[in-house]
Amino acid sequence: MEYKICKLCGSIASESHHIIHRSQLRALINCKLNQVYLCNNCHNYLHNNRNGCELDYALQLEFQNTLEMLFIGQSFDLEEIQEALNINYNATYGLSKLMRSNKGKYNREDIILTCLGGEYPQTRYEKAKKNKKKR
Ligand SMILES: [Zn+2]
Ligand SMILES: [Zn+2]
Repeated sequence: MEYKICKLCGSIASESHHIIHRSQLRALINCKLNQVYLCNNCHNYLHNNRNGCELDYALQLEFQNTLEMLFIGQSFDLEEIQEALNINYNATYGLSKLMRSNKGKYNREDIILTCLGGEYPQTRYEKAKKNKKKR
């Protein structure tokens, strides 16, 4: 059996985490690029600790970088998007519903922002920090 390693601490991982959470974007639930293995401790910390937003931010920022590298160019059609993200037709269709197309082409910025769940990690992180202070 192959062991999975926790992306954050290197111990044996038992759980799969969606970098862009299900609640943030459903279309990339089955996209491998949007999944990392985590151990139970790190996963719990990320979602439930008041400082978990730091880890969440780090993973999402890395995902943003991956997207920036996948989509080099100005615009892409659905076939190209599907291939770059290695997702199925339904997932691609789900994404397309969230983006504006111009003659079947989608703008790079729009694709990346949509794949990030409609909000840049930086923005999301700053909001999370503000909420933390309020508590
Ligand atoms: Zn861990
Ligand atoms: Zn998770």
